[in-house]
Amino acid sequence: MHDPIPTTTLPDGRRVPVLGQGTWRMGDAPSRKNDEVKSLQLGLDLGMTLIDTAEMYGNGASERIVGEAVSGRRDEAFIVSKVLPSNASRTGTEAACERSLKHLGIDQIDLYLLHWRGGYPLAETVAAFEALKKAGKIGAWGVSNFDVDDMEELLAVPDGKNVAVNQVLYNLSRRGIEFDLLPWCQKRGIAIMAYSPLDEGRLLRHPDLIHIAKAHQATPSQIALAFLKTRPGVISIPKTGSADRARENRDAMDIHLTAEDLGDLDRAFPPPKRKRSLEMI
Ligand code: NAP
Repeated sequence: MHDPIPTTTLPDGRRVPVLGQGTWRMGDAPSRKNDEVKSLQLGLDLGMTLIDTAEMYGNGASERIVGEAVSGRRDEAFIVSKVLPSNASRTGTEAACERSLKHLGIDQIDLYLLHWRGGYPLAETVAAFEALKKAGKIGAWGVSNFDVDDMEELLAVPDGKNVAVNQVLYNLSRRGIEFDLLPWCQKRGIAIMAYSPLDEGRLLRHPDLIHIAKAHQATPSQIALAFLKTRPGVISIPKTGSADRARENRDAMDIHLTAEDLGDLDRAFPPPKRKRSLEMI
């Protein structure tokens, strides 16, 4: 028997699991497509119902894979997609959303993010997001790769306070946000979505993490995800195109790290002592 995956509550009251699924690079190789769809579907079965994609990923190929994975079971999934900054004008955002809906084969994107800050004024993108919400095309909106100063600017534009989520790079080897951005968002009830929670796989070769994992009879990936579970308001979205690894990642939610474990992790992956600019992949 599994512990249920813990949930966090978005500002609009919807609850989402703190472990979801990423999809970057899915759809790039036709030979892997079946495994990718199966892995996402197993993830849904196991409760990792939040699925993150973007119009950028394979120019819609990743969104199509997600669409296939949720076909016939749309209501079980919480789908996140993103608009490219180069499309994030008032009309461009709405057109991009329509394209993403078509790729996904759904009527509403649950959460729609600005992928990173670009040249269009934030007020314009936010106005488009609000119009899409009113039209029922998206459930909520958020941003990605925004540091504290960007968030402060965002909150100052009309309706900017409706931001639900900031999706940023966060994992054991990239803890910079713990100094300022993470507490800033936690204080305001804005969820943090931790992307590349396994540092794109690099983290799994870290000798200290391998050592700590062995002591838990767990895998390095499980300890990396169990660590993020200890942070309130953080949702992690590991990507895997393998059903076995999807199961392994889900099982991480059964691991409860003690204060001593967290101390060992702090020694191996020290938390920040001063402000660091937000890193991006
Ligand atoms: P990640 O999830 O940290 O790592 C993915 C890599 O780890 C893949 O190579 C995967 O390989 C491997 N992996 C997954 N589970 C594993 C396990 N249990 N054991 C061993 N290897 C495992 O990296 P990511 O894909 O960059 O980040 C996750 C998601 O965040 C993306 O897919 C995307 O949805 C989102 N993201 C957003 C942004 C942004 O700017 N907003 C940027 C980057 C990523 P296999 O597939 O072969 O298992």
